[in-house]
Amino acid sequence: MKISILTIFPDMFPAAFADGMIRVARDKGQLELDVVALRDFTDDAHRTTDDYPFGGGAGMIMKIEPIDRALASLGLPDKGRRPPGTRVLLTSPQGRRFTQDVAIEYAGLGHLVILCGRYKGVDERVTEQFVDEEISIGDYVLSGGEPAALCVVDAIARLLPGVVGAFDSVESDSFHSGLLDCGYYTRPAEYRGWKVPDVLLSGHHAMIAKARREESLRRTFERRPDLLEHAELSDDDRRFLRALARGAGERG
Ligand code: SAH
Repeated sequence: MKISILTIFPDMFPAAFADGMIRVARDKGQLELDVVALRDFTDDAHRTTDDYPFGGGAGMIMKIEPIDRALASLGLPDKGRRPPGTRVLLTSPQGRRFTQDVAIEYAGLGHLVILCGRYKGVDERVTEQFVDEEISIGDYVLSGGEPAALCVVDAIARLLPGVVGAFDSVESDSFHSGLLDCGYYTRPAEYRGWKVPDVLLSGHHAMIAKARREESLRRTFERRPDLLEHAELSDDDRRFLRALARGAGERG
C-alpha cells in the first residue's frame, strides 16, 4: 500500500515514520510513504501556499494551485475517474469520524492520499474538485492536519499483512471486534503488595480467556455502552451482560 501526504510541513513526519509499527510496515515492504512538500509546487519567490479569504475575515486559506499541481505529480486521475483502490482524503474537523472500522477499510486500499490543511482551512474548490472524503480524528480543532495524518497512517500500518507478528493481538484490541480490550499485567506478580489477579497465574487457558472476555465486556458496559449495540456477542456474553445490568456481576 502507498500513502502520500501533502503538507506544507514535511519535516514533521520523518521521526514519526522511523520507529514502531510504521517502520516495520515499511521494512517489510507493506507500506510506502511519500511526503509531498506543497511548497515545491509554488511558482513565486516566496513559495506562497496560502492567501487572504475572499470576503475578508481573520485567518489565511490554503491556495488551490499548489495542491492541484502536487496531486497531478502523483499521476492521479480526476475525481470520479479514480480506481476503487485510490482515495484522496482531506483532514478536517467536519469530516467522517476516523474509527477502527475506517482504518480497516483504508488498509485495503492501494493508494491513499492525505491532504493536510492549515490555517482556516483549504479553498473550498479543493474539497469540491479533488477530495473523495473528508476525515476527522475527533471533535476538537487542531492547528493542522499533520497530526491527524499521523494517526491515520499509524492505525493503518499495524493492520497491514505481517506487520504485527501475532495478529490475534490486534484482533483483541479495543474496537476491533466492537469491545474495549481487557487490562494486562506483567512481571513481577507482586509489587509493593499489589497482586496480579490469581486467574492469570493459574495456567488454566480456558479460565483466563473467560476472565479476559468478561473484563472486556465489563469495561465496555461501564465505559462505552454505545459499543455493545454493534459488538459481536455470544450467548455467554449476553448472559454476562444481563447479569451486569442486574448488578450481579460485581468484581470478585
Ligand atoms: N476552519 C476549520 C478548522 C481549520 S483547523 C473548521 O472550523 O472546520 C486547520 C486544519 O487542521 C484543518 O484544515 C484540518 O486539515 C486540520 N484539522 C483540524 N482539526 C482536525 C480534526 N479534528 N481532524 C482532522 N483534521 C483536523
